[in-house]
Amino acid sequence: MQVIRIAALSDNYIFLLHDLKQNIAAVVDPAEAEPVLKKLKELKAELVAIFNTHHHQDHVGGNKQIMQQFPQVTVYGGAEDQGRIPGQQVFLQQGDRVHFADRIGEVFFIPGHTRAHIAYYFPPTQVGETGDLFCGDTLFAGGCGRLFEGTPTQMVDSLGKLRSLPDDTHVWCAHEYTLKNLQFALTVDSDNANLQSRYDEVKAYRSRGEATVPSLLGVEKLTNPFLRWDQPALQSATKTREPVQTFARLRGMKDQF
Ligand code: ZN
Ligand code: FE
Repeated sequence: MQVIRIAALSDNYIFLLHDLKQNIAAVVDPAEAEPVLKKLKELKAELVAIFNTHHHQDHVGGNKQIMQQFPQVTVYGGAEDQGRIPGQQVFLQQGDRVHFADRIGEVFFIPGHTRAHIAYYFPPTQVGETGDLFCGDTLFAGGCGRLFEGTPTQMVDSLGKLRSLPDDTHVWCAHEYTLKNLQFALTVDSDNANLQSRYDEVKAYRSRGEATVPSLLGVEKLTNPFLRWDQPALQSATKTREPVQTFARLRGMKDQF
């Protein structure tokens, strides 16, 4: 399975999963239809699935138009999103599995950004392969999503699930927010050498107009403040050692940043 990153709208990423053997494809969070249909035409591939992480327009905006072109496509989303995702046919819960070509995706229920948000994790199928995590707007490179419909307690639990995955997991998040996220991260974790060097790297990437997604989960664990609520530096920046409070205060500071 090959993952093709498609830039959309102002700062969204759409991901096309392509299986070369069967020449079939699946799309994660089609913000808009045009660039997806164009890429499918180029590949001459048949689209079999739309995997939505949550109901926001910049993640489901292309569903309807894509379904008109590919009437056989199956539309997946979270069970709690019933009625909010155009064309949704499959209602997924924590622990459910989805199939694409020879890969099996595990579903994580990760409320916080929205009350229904889910992630799809495709573990490696053989030695030398890495896992792929499609986490929508919950975990970003260097940051996390805003809490629109959930509580800090839920978000810590959700991010905790993602944090438990292997370090070499590719993190395919839905927005190019990395540079801004790391600028904030430096204000709360300034002595973190890994963070400083990541910031320099990302700054160079962005000055060349290059994407910073996917990132690696191991890098997130070392540099993303929203996965580091139990680290002394973040506890002292937020003046609390209580995990949910640490996270909530970080999120509040980022909202003001
Ligand atoms: Zn969103
Ligand atoms: Fe979004």
